[in-house]
Amino acid sequence: MIYLDHAAATPLHPGVAEAMARVQAEAFANPSSLHAAGRRARAVLEAARERILAHLGAVSTGPHRDRLVFTSGATEANRLGILGVADAAIASGRSPGRFLFTARDHASIRSLAGGMADRGFEPFEVPLDASGVPMWAASIEPEIAGPAVGGRCEIAASTTVCGQTGVIDAFSPVESCSGEHLSGNPVVHADATQACGWLEFGERFAAKTVSVAPHKFGGPRGIGGLLVRRGMPLAAVTPGSQESGLRGGTEAVVLAEGFATAVELVAADRGREAARIALLRDAFERRVVASARRAGIAAEVIPAGGAPRAPHISTIAFPGLDRQAVVMAADLAGIACSTGTACASGSAEPSPAIVAMGFSRAIVAAAVRFSFGRTTHDHDADAAFDVIGRMLSAMAAAPRRTSGA
Ligand code: PLP
Repeated sequence: MIYLDHAAATPLHPGVAEAMARVQAEAFANPSSLHAAGRRARAVLEAARERILAHLGAVSTGPHRDRLVFTSGATEANRLGILGVADAAIASGRSPGRFLFTARDHASIRSLAGGMADRGFEPFEVPLDASGVPMWAASIEPEIAGPAVGGRCEIAASTTVCGQTGVIDAFSPVESCSGEHLSGNPVVHADATQACGWLEFGERFAAKTVSVAPHKFGGPRGIGGLLVRRGMPLAAVTPGSQESGLRGGTEAVVLAEGFATAVELVAADRGREAARIALLRDAFERRVVASARRAGIAAEVIPAGGAPRAPHISTIAFPGLDRQAVVMAADLAGIACSTGTACASGSAEPSPAIVAMGFSRAIVAAAVRFSFGRTTHDHDADAAFDVIGRMLSAMAAAPRRTSGA
């Protein structure tokens, strides 16, 4: 099998597996237990937390030090980062303002609109441009300018790297994310789940809360984290004594060790691997599009043009073919790919991001996501290309049926 679905989950890095096995044997106890075994588990957990914070460019000293709350994954981290900030603001007497989000956000963010509305926030979907970049300034600034928003708590969710297209949101990530250029001065929550393996974090990543999950870069599934910047008030969504009262439930010490090890391993080769995978992706896209066109399919990369993208995601549409049929045919031919993020893959619903980018129904219905990782090499891309080329010729020759988008 040639695995081209790294945006969904990556294989566990052997170094991560080794570190987890060691901790499983040495520090299996409950980190809240007061005995020596519990204290050993606690020490491993807190060391893992500090190792991760160090790589996220966190401020680790002083009264307003950055915190990391372990969660079950990015879904829960998104929920805590948004609802937790909203609840803390309301508890401190601030009135709710807008909740800004986009169609490129993961379902775990978009689905919070109802809960935010129940709390008195006004959900507002910021439109995307044709390359899938949120139109923050153009659409938001004039509308929320003025005294009406004074004192209200605005929360903006920004997905750093779109899980469907790989396009980077320049508002959130690495360069500038203070939120000050939005006149409501929202609290920015960044979903960096697809970014962490490929983009430098550093101190400049200034969103107030940031979600990460190591299963996207060689770490274990079942754990994630919410980085909480400099004293940002946060209320628990799952109450309990653990995680300083911010997330109840026994902490997963072994998974935390795997998380920390994965973060360190990925930081060691991030720049080199990002450059390698960008070249591999570009060649893959050129060749797949050319071979599809030779088969009479007007394939195109989404988005076209030069929008800044993380290197590991490539969405290609094969108009006239059905995306699910392509994914199934690829699977039978030994290639694992996907129609897109979990909300789009395996479901009849098209990708909300691609719909919001304004593509035609034929393109939306035919978009397939290929995603690469550190275990993808040129020979995998070459072999995948050969298989895909043959598969597309066969599919183009067969009678077609495209499901509606
Ligand atoms: N956010 C983004 C951008 C994602 O791509 C994903 C998963 O694909 C998630 C959130 C959810 O992550 P998890 O499966 O760890 O809950």
